[in-house]
Amino acid sequence: MPSPPQTDWHARPHEEAFEAFESSPHDGLAEEVAAARLATHGPNRIEARAGRGPLLRFALQFHQPLIYILIVSGAVAAFLGEWADAGVIFGVVMVNALIGFIQEGRAEDALAALARSVASDVTVLRGGQQRRIDAVTLVPGDVVRLAAGDKVPADLRLFDARALQLTEAALTGESTSVAKHTGVVASDSGLAERANLAFAGTLVVGGQGGGLVVATGRATETGRIADLLDATESLATPLTRAMARFSNYLLVLILGLAVVGFVVGSLRGEPLVDMLMAAVALAVGAIPEGLPAAITVTLAIGVARMARRRAIIRRLPAVETLGSTTVICSDKTGTLTENQMTVRALLAGGQRFAVSGDGYAPEGVVTRDGAPAHAAGPLRELLVAGVLCNDAGLAEQDGVWGITGDPTEAALLVAARKAGLDEHALRKAAPRLDEIAFDSARQYMACLNQLDGRHVVLLKGAPEVILSRCTHMLDGDGSAVPADTDAVVSVGRAMARDGLRVLAFAQVEVEGGPLDAAQLAGGLCFLGLQAMLDPPRQAALRAIASCAGAGVGVKMITGDHADTALAIARELGIAAEGDKVLTGRQLAALDDAGLCAAVREVDVFARVEPEQKLRLVQALQANGEVVAMTGDGVNDAPALKAANIGVAMGAGGTEVAKDAAAMVLTDDNFATIEAAIEEGRGVYDNLVKFIIWTLPTNFGEGLVILFAVLAGVTLPITPLQILWINMTTAVLLGLALAFEPIQRDVMARPPRAPGTPILDGVLIRRIVLVGLLLLVAAFGLFLRWRGLGASLEEARTVAVNVFVAGEIAYLFNCRNLRGPFWRCGWWSNPWFWGGIGAMVLLQALFTYLPVMNRVFASAPISLAAWLEIGTAALATALVVGLEKRLSQGR
Ligand code: ATP
Repeated sequence: MPSPPQTDWHARPHEEAFEAFESSPHDGLAEEVAAARLATHGPNRIEARAGRGPLLRFALQFHQPLIYILIVSGAVAAFLGEWADAGVIFGVVMVNALIGFIQEGRAEDALAALARSVASDVTVLRGGQQRRIDAVTLVPGDVVRLAAGDKVPADLRLFDARALQLTEAALTGESTSVAKHTGVVASDSGLAERANLAFAGTLVVGGQGGGLVVATGRATETGRIADLLDATESLATPLTRAMARFSNYLLVLILGLAVVGFVVGSLRGEPLVDMLMAAVALAVGAIPEGLPAAITVTLAIGVARMARRRAIIRRLPAVETLGSTTVICSDKTGTLTENQMTVRALLAGGQRFAVSGDGYAPEGVVTRDGAPAHAAGPLRELLVAGVLCNDAGLAEQDGVWGITGDPTEAALLVAARKAGLDEHALRKAAPRLDEIAFDSARQYMACLNQLDGRHVVLLKGAPEVILSRCTHMLDGDGSAVPADTDAVVSVGRAMARDGLRVLAFAQVEVEGGPLDAAQLAGGLCFLGLQAMLDPPRQAALRAIASCAGAGVGVKMITGDHADTALAIARELGIAAEGDKVLTGRQLAALDDAGLCAAVREVDVFARVEPEQKLRLVQALQANGEVVAMTGDGVNDAPALKAANIGVAMGAGGTEVAKDAAAMVLTDDNFATIEAAIEEGRGVYDNLVKFIIWTLPTNFGEGLVILFAVLAGVTLPITPLQILWINMTTAVLLGLALAFEPIQRDVMARPPRAPGTPILDGVLIRRIVLVGLLLLVAAFGLFLRWRGLGASLEEARTVAVNVFVAGEIAYLFNCRNLRGPFWRCGWWSNPWFWGGIGAMVLLQALFTYLPVMNRVFASAPISLAAWLEIGTAALATALVVGLEKRLSQGR
């Protein structure tokens, strides 16, 4: 293809564009041509260039209050000529920044990759055939079909637009939708006025259309401005923000203590240099250097674990919010149920029929009172309507029957086949002239077919909607009689109470097309009912029980009939016998206060229109709930955005819904939400474990220095040694906690109330206790060995080893927040043992390797000293174990 130089496709008729791209609206591109163009133009993808350059991102790593203290401390050490100390402090600052930089980059990349992994399929015309392909393989010249819910995959010159509405917020920032057309607009019109173009990344919120791809990937309008967009989601979460606030308090505290130490020591006449170094030691000791990296790593591990369980996190804060979710609002069809429809019962000509067989294999029979029924008279009319007013397909491959399209519609084809009717022959004999597509709000579908030389409109939809338009119906002989609505309604309700999804069918003869909804307001002839079974997912059943134990409420929100919804809800354990169901109509009649009261009591909402989901979310949130809401359609997007966790369906959902959601389920299964909540709670636990493990060390180190200064004794640990402890233990011991498997009891406790502080009284007490234990042990053994005549280096080495051994021992306590560590399984976390092994090795090097002795001013110590260190560590773990027991097993 000669690369068309023009870019003003909006100012030219679409025919010209087709010519330039050597494509056609009827056939699209041939596969070989598309493959060749893909090789030249490259994939249709906008590589997310990070919003901030790497240099800036690296520089920002230093922009943290606690790092400022470290930098100042390093400068003080350098000023005093303590070059080793200064070097190590600056080294730590650099390493810290590097770790932060790498971890942040990896977490951002992982999030972006996950977002991409939710494949975005598009419908294209290739070689005259419509097919679904991955949007990445689109090339200029491709012909794309658009429907409500799609994300526009590339820049398109529209050649077909039927009530096509797009929101272009991604590009123009304007969130109201714009109507599109296929005409020509002035060449100097701005992006927002180019109504005959559909831009990549914008969303189709209504209507249908077709467009010719004129630009892909970076060449698209969105691609051009991609550098300006912050392509990746921010890594800030409520927790990281809380930690940032905590760091600020810590900053003030540490500075205050350093000043106190400095002033007291100086007043006592200690040398200025020593007091400055003590202040430096206090600062580096009290700063939890590993904390920010640990939080990011733990969250990133959580995201990866959730992805393995088929929940893709699109926004990082969702990982935390999941842990405090109190109610899940779930769609029924496909999420709580299998979306595997099988027609089980029919009503035609006033008579009931049963249909045998399971699944989509057309193996089974239609019977009436136990005898096989022939597809004749009203039964035939009903089944034929089911086949013609239908867009699904049925095919056998390798002995397995599969479907294309909507399972509800496929089930109708299977039922017809069981009665001996073939959909291909029927569709050929009665071509479709026009249609009104199914829509959840309208609750019916209609199509105009040419049937035996007549123009017949066939309708199918929710029984109330169809019946209200029928004036007559077919009796057993196939003659039209006045409609006996009450009788039909009672049969329909009986079917619904069995948990069946009921569809009603009707027809009316018209003069000709086009089809107009106003023509269908009344005067229809009722053909009958088809009722289908959609079995509840067994995994959902277990997940709902687990949610109940975890204090997470489950509400079913469905477009289906109240009776069907209640029957399925009862099977799933969401509702009990006699529970109330609120319908969309009743919901609409309630004011906000009334709705808030209703959502406290009702768990099943039926015949709900997607727009009403938003009100439900708001009412639940007004009651203080943290809401996860599922959705798949365009109209679900506002509710998904408003919910604390919007959950979109990866397989059956629209791009619009995925775009609005914080989490995408790749398997559309309710059980996956429960799994994600479990992971979310696990992640939060692990974060808390790390925090309560790391803080006592900093607290203890700070106290050791402060005490030494106040008591006027030599520092038991040098700043350098403190940094050694903090950095090595944070990486080798602390990070192991991020890999802790989920505790078995996580789904046996209530959700964490949002806004509760990370550390409650019990945990703060534990931190103080451990800090004091470390202080006493380290200081005590330091003084003891000094008293026994050990050199300053030896005594300090003992003190350092007390801290490290104490942290190893305390790590056992921290593996389980609420019980003894062995309940987590001795070997369930290999990182834990690997970390401890590596740490022991490093301490041996620290103590015995001459180089280390020179750098860190350490010295070899005796076996007796090791025994005392071990005893002190063991005692720490035992005291904490006892404390955990006393504070009710936490
Ligand atoms: P959920 O909201 O839990 O996914 P649902 O799939 O039953 O529930 P909708 O798809 O909105 O909700 O369907 C609402 C009603 O519309 C159904 O109960 C059915 O009566 C009718 N209906 C569903 N699919 C079709 C269809 N393809 N053609 C005509 N009517 C349909």
